Amino acid sequence: MSNKVVYLEDAKVKKCNICEQELPLTFFHLRKEKGTTRKTHYGHCRECRRKLDNDRLSKPYEYLKALYRGVRDRQKKEKEETIYRRRGKRLMESMNMHKECRVSFNEFLYRFLDQYKAIGMMCPLTGKKMTTIRGEKWVPTNMTVDRIDNDVMYTYHNIMFISNEANQQKGAISLLSIISLSFWLKHLVKHKYKGYEAMFDNLLDSAMENADNRKRITKHLTEEDFKNCKNWSEFYDIGKKDDEGRID
Ligand SMILES: [Zn+2]
Repeated sequence: MSNKVVYLEDAKVKKCNICEQELPLTFFHLRKEKGTTRKTHYGHCRECRRKLDNDRLSKPYEYLKALYRGVRDRQKKEKEETIYRRRGKRLMESMNMHKECRVSFNEFLYRFLDQYKAIGMMCPLTGKKMTTIRGEKWVPTNMTVDRIDNDVMYTYHNIMFISNEANQQKGAISLLSIISLSFWLKHLVKHKYKGYEAMFDNLLDSAMENADNRKRITKHLTEEDFKNCKNWSEFYDIGKKDDEGRID
C-alpha cells in the first residue's frame, strides 16, 4: 500500500463545485441532513460560500432589509438597557424611549424610494454616490440609515439614508445648530451661502444621471421586482420600463 494514503479527516480532499479547486475537507462547511443527525459537507468551499453570501446581501432589497433589521434591533437593545437602568433613573428611560423604531419594513422601503425619487443614490450629506457592498470591513460610501432629528425616534418621517462617512461625521449635531449655522451663513456671509447653494445644485445635477428613470422606477416597481434585482443596474432598468411594461 502506498504510504501517501493518510487516514486523517484533514487530509481528505473534495472538489468545490464553484471554483473547482481540490481542497481539504476542513475548507468546507458542514450542514445537517434533513431528518437525520448525519452531517455532510457543502458542495462549495467556505471561500465560495462567503462570496455567494456577500453577493446575496449586496442585492438592493436584501441590503435594505439588513439595514432595517439593524434599526429594529438597536431599538430593542436600547429598550432592554432602559429596563436595566429603571431603578431610580427615570430620566434616562424617557431619553431612551425617543429612539424607538415605529416604522414597518414596508414604510422603510417606501421611505427609501421617496429619497431615491428625489436625489437618486446620492448621499444627501456628502453628495457622493452611495454603495451597498457587503463583505468588506468598512466602506465609506456604503448606505446606512439615520434619524434626521436625533432627539426624535425612528419614524417614517424621521429617517434618511446617508453614507457611512456622513453618518460618522454627523455625530450628535442637532437640527437646531444646523439651522442657526445656516441663519448666520445667510445673513453674515451671503456670498458664501450662495456658493454652497450652487455647489449643492451641481452635486444634485451629477446625481441626476437616471433622472427620468427614477420617477419611473418608483412608478413601475413592485416589491417582487425589487426582491429579484441582483444588483443596482437591474434596479435602474426597471426605470426604463414604459407604461406597457416594455424596456427600451
Ligand atoms: Zn470554491
